[in-house]
Amino acid sequence: MRIEEFQELIERIYYERDSSRGLAGTHMWFCEEVGELTRALRRNEVDDLEGEFADVLAWLATLASVSGVNLEQAACRKYAEGCPRCRATPCACG
Ligand SMILES: [Zn+2]
Repeated sequence: MRIEEFQELIERIYYERDSSRGLAGTHMWFCEEVGELTRALRRNEVDDLEGEFADVLAWLATLASVSGVNLEQAACRKYAEGCPRCRATPCACG
């Protein structure tokens, strides 16, 4: 699944609710999910890691949708040529 397809999928599932909640509330949910991922990483909860990464990605996609940002386009524009600063892959910034 491409990033754009994932963002569209999350929009089909949640956009109506997420857009009516608004950016501030959606951002709080995103931060909560980042916190859950952090906890799973810190406690080395291997069984929960995959799901927590998926949740953070889903909330990031929602945050982008509510902000009118195409996540795939944004990622490609910034990183397709390598490091945005030095343009090298791998990054050669000192
Ligand atoms: Zn670099």
